[in-house]
Amino acid sequence: MYVDEVLSRLRKLYPGGYSHVNKDPFYLLISTVLSQRTRDDVTIPATQKLFSVFATVEKMAGADVNEVQDLIRDVGFYRVKAQRIIDISRIILQDYGGVVPDSIDELLKLPGVGRKTANCVLGYGFGQDVIAVDTHVHRISNRMGLVDTSDPDETEKELEKLVSKQDWKDINGLMVLFGQNVCRPVGPKCRECIMNDICPKII
Ligand code: SF4
Repeated sequence: MYVDEVLSRLRKLYPGGYSHVNKDPFYLLISTVLSQRTRDDVTIPATQKLFSVFATVEKMAGADVNEVQDLIRDVGFYRVKAQRIIDISRIILQDYGGVVPDSIDELLKLPGVGRKTANCVLGYGFGQDVIAVDTHVHRISNRMGLVDTSDPDETEKELEKLVSKQDWKDINGLMVLFGQNVCRPVGPKCRECIMNDICPKII
């Protein structure tokens, strides 16, 4: 099947996958909130800076919002996100005993947490079979003709029908790497792309 060929080529291109990601559920949750509408090269250092000062749920829950704002100033919507991060930490501390919940329904109750963020936490942090559809997964799946959808939630549903369950949690990491390096949002490198003999959107 076409989708299996795509995943097989991505695995050959990125044999290590996205294994360098920090798998701590709280770190993942906060970093994914920070990543919303922000590039990875900005999100990663901002998250590291934030956790170098507030390393635990308890510390983050008690943080001063102005201090958090200063630490994450480079990310988009940093004022909103600073308050959100503190609110999320307080809820996790008060309602979940300081432990990030491992269910989609509970994660979606947290402020600013949508399906992409929740699925990143469940997939990377808890090893669950989920498809975290971010901007890269949505764009590449549509460009390559795997799906024909208008929003990431729809893409998630369509990919779930198309892809074997054991492959679900690999999709995000493989497509993020491919989207950052080859099938970029602007200026995709189609000429050197390993998919250019099968991709319908080659430019
Ligand atoms: S050929 Fe171009 S559009 Fe198709 S997957 Fe490769 S980079 Fe993306």
